[in-house]
Amino acid sequence: MDCLFCKIAAGQIASRKVWEDARILAFEDIHPAAPTHILLIPKQHISGMDAAEAAHDELLGYLQRMAAQLARERKLTGGYRIVVNAGPDAGQSVFHLHVHLLGGRPMSWPPG
Ligand code: 5GP
Ligand code: ZN
Repeated sequence: MDCLFCKIAAGQIASRKVWEDARILAFEDIHPAAPTHILLIPKQHISGMDAAEAAHDELLGYLQRMAAQLARERKLTGGYRIVVNAGPDAGQSVFHLHVHLLGGRPMSWPPG
């Protein structure tokens, strides 16, 4: 499949890996929007949150818990944000489900 994040998960395209196991991969975003900007992806291709099914419930929870775990490891004690952009209006540009972990600076609300 011609999917950028499937290729990163398969090691066909290089990334700065932060953490990995059989189900998910975490790597540094190539254009960081904050001092910490990590992407967490399932190794299985899911095009986005819009394609999530009940069978993905555990995986989706696991992605978020691991984002929180990495936030602890990065000592983001002031807080952080876990973001999923779903669809073009939200700015989703890669159609392989990914969770952004952003931290290390104050963030405004609502997001732009
Ligand atoms: P989205 O806009 O779909 O929510 O997020 C996609 C993210 O993937 C963006 O933050 C973008 O900087 C990042 N990205 C796009 N291409 C690459 C790449 O080849 N390598 C890495 N590490 N990040 C990428
Ligand atoms: Zn994919």
